Amino acid sequence: MDCIFCKIANKEIPSGIVYEDDDVIAFNDLNPEAPVHILVIPKKHIVNLNDAKPEDQQLLGKLMLTIQKIAAEQGIAESGYRVVTNCGEQGGQTVMHMHFHLLGGREMLWPAG
Ligand code: AMP
Ligand code: ZN
Repeated sequence: MDCIFCKIANKEIPSGIVYEDDDVIAFNDLNPEAPVHILVIPKKHIVNLNDAKPEDQQLLGKLMLTIQKIAAEQGIAESGYRVVTNCGEQGGQTVMHMHFHLLGGREMLWPAG
């Protein structure tokens, strides 16, 4: 499958990996929008939240707890951070493999644009 994030998960293209286990991989965003900008993805190809199935329930929970762990490792747990998943066209999704942006290290604005 011609999916850039599957290729990152398979190490077919290089990335700055910050965390990996059997189900999840996390790497630095190529165009960071904050001092910490990490993408946390399932290794399994799921297009976006619309595409997640009941059998993905455990994986979705694992992604959230992995983000919690990475935030602590990155030193932004106490200062705070933002977790974003863009879903579909109006959600601003550009890469069609579900990913969670972990953003921190600066004050975040709200509402998001
Ligand atoms: P989204 O707009 O939510 O689909 O986010 C896609 C994100 O993937 C953007 O923040 C891009 O900067 C990032 N991105 C695209 N290609 C790569 C890559 N090869 N390595 C790391 N991040 C990437
Ligand atoms: Zn994929």
